[in-house]
Amino acid sequence: MPTTVLEFMRDFPERDRGPCTVSGEGQNDYICVVCPGAELLCKICIVSTHEQLPFHKIKQWNGSHFEACELRGLGIQVRLGHGGQVCPSPQSTASWDLISEHGIMRVDVVFCGCVGGPGVAAQLREMGWLRWNGNNVCATERVIEQMHQLQL
Ligand SMILES: [Zn+2]
Ligand SMILES: [Zn+2]
Ligand SMILES: [Zn+2]
Repeated sequence: MPTTVLEFMRDFPERDRGPCTVSGEGQNDYICVVCPGAELLCKICIVSTHEQLPFHKIKQWNGSHFEACELRGLGIQVRLGHGGQVCPSPQSTASWDLISEHGIMRVDVVFCGCVGGPGVAAQLREMGWLRWNGNNVCATERVIEQMHQLQL
């Protein structure tokens, strides 16, 4: 058995491809290299398991090999202010660069616009993200902690 996701993907024979084993429907064209288990999933399953994990790295089968694919390209938007639920009066949708331990990922973020709701910084913090210098850039708390440790 291959031990890592990368080995799994390298060794993955084309003949084993087929319907998604979770939903039984779509073609199992997607795999997350961050999630444990390295399961091949269809588009619906990869989206439903990553709505709050937009910084995960996804690979998509392109007919001959797996290539990087962005979750935002699959329609994933991170909804802030309501613990992942849809805001009744969303303020704006914007693309942010998120720096995580997996690298830099562009994510589409929907901000809550409820009257009396939390501000942008508070909404990001709810996800464990902190605004970075400059516009539309944020980093995960974990990355910021690691940077502080490196400076010591
Ligand atoms: Zn599926
Ligand atoms: Zn994942
Ligand atoms: Zn709201």
